[in-house]
Amino acid sequence: MSYFTHLECSEPCGAGHYDPRVEQHLCSCGAPLLARYDLDAAKAWKKESLAGRAPNMWRYRELMPLLDGQEPLTLGEGWTPLIHAKRLGSDVGLSRLFVKDESLNPTNSFKARGLAAAVTKASHLGARILSIPSAGNAANAMAAYAAAAGIDAKVFMPRDVKVPFIRECELYGAEITLVDGLITDAGRIAAERGKPLGWYDVSTLKEPYRIEGKKTMAYELGEQLDWQFPDWIIYPTGGGTGMVGMWKAFEEMEAIGWKSSTVRPRMVSVQAEHCAPIVRAFEQGAERSVMWPNARTVADGLRVPKAIGDFLVLRAVRESGGTALAVSDADMVRDMRELGTREGISAAPEGGAALHALRVLIEDGRVKPSDTVVVFNTGGALKYLDVLN
Ligand SMILES: *Cc1c(COP(=O)(O)O)cnc(C)c1O
Repeated sequence: MSYFTHLECSEPCGAGHYDPRVEQHLCSCGAPLLARYDLDAAKAWKKESLAGRAPNMWRYRELMPLLDGQEPLTLGEGWTPLIHAKRLGSDVGLSRLFVKDESLNPTNSFKARGLAAAVTKASHLGARILSIPSAGNAANAMAAYAAAAGIDAKVFMPRDVKVPFIRECELYGAEITLVDGLITDAGRIAAERGKPLGWYDVSTLKEPYRIEGKKTMAYELGEQLDWQFPDWIIYPTGGGTGMVGMWKAFEEMEAIGWKSSTVRPRMVSVQAEHCAPIVRAFEQGAERSVMWPNARTVADGLRVPKAIGDFLVLRAVRESGGTALAVSDADMVRDMRELGTREGISAAPEGGAALHALRVLIEDGRVKPSDTVVVFNTGGALKYLDVLN
């Protein structure tokens, strides 16, 4: 069973509850909607019940957005390894450095979590055609889950996206449109085409369930670290669902008594030097970001010049006492290689960016040798091999 009750605006706009039994996208005020649960009743749900459950993200189904009798669509997403990176840790002077290796998800990235949840819900709601704008990984994940659900998938990606992302969408039978520009342009074109035809739009934060898939990363960190949460979470940020999802998970775990202290991990949002809208807004003390002109980076997942949930990411970073920082492409590729050569981990440049950000924070003296740090490797190396040439 699930304690899922309703959807609610992420802003205090006064719009009231939204019914999850029908298709919902944004709030009438334009802000993202969030799934809400009866957290008081959920106090009856005990951690001990997790033992023996299937090793995928639906082990937390009591706080997943399933209505009574609904079953998830799964390809085995989630429950990825949390690797104690001892060799890299000794390189940087940390005895408790962990890498959460999201490359082991279906379709090679943590996007599988969000899209498993979103496609599950779309399928329960009877959607026939799904559409998504993507920088690459989200399109692959959506195409795979749509194939598994028997639903048509339309994906919109930048024309210069790396070839493996295109081929993998073809593999799952998605219809591909390549657009001039970035993910934001892809989003505009997908909406223009799809709206009149009633396509179900699964853009980041424009439907409420991708966050619910991503939040399971924080539940897993708790379970894998014996409910001692890390001091730092270092996370490569594009659209921001990972950050927003994990922050929401901490709130839920505190409410149901799974997380004893209200001290949360410091959240570090890592972006690319030439596409760093969140970092700039953070430094300027702004509540929202500004569209980044001429955004470019080899880390496709970070090529998001403006995120609809930017204010939620910034809020999480600030409330956590964390920070936001930008990394050059050369540095992220160098640390992508380090994850490979020192730990045997297949890392995307995005994962390399997170590791590099950690080095900067250690050098600044912000991360202490006794701190427990989790670096997220959000995807695998295989679709990015061109950057190693
Ligand atoms: C999409 C993506 C990101 C950014 O994730 P958000 O949660 O949308 O900020 C980071 N890394 C990889 C590999 C991605 O595909």
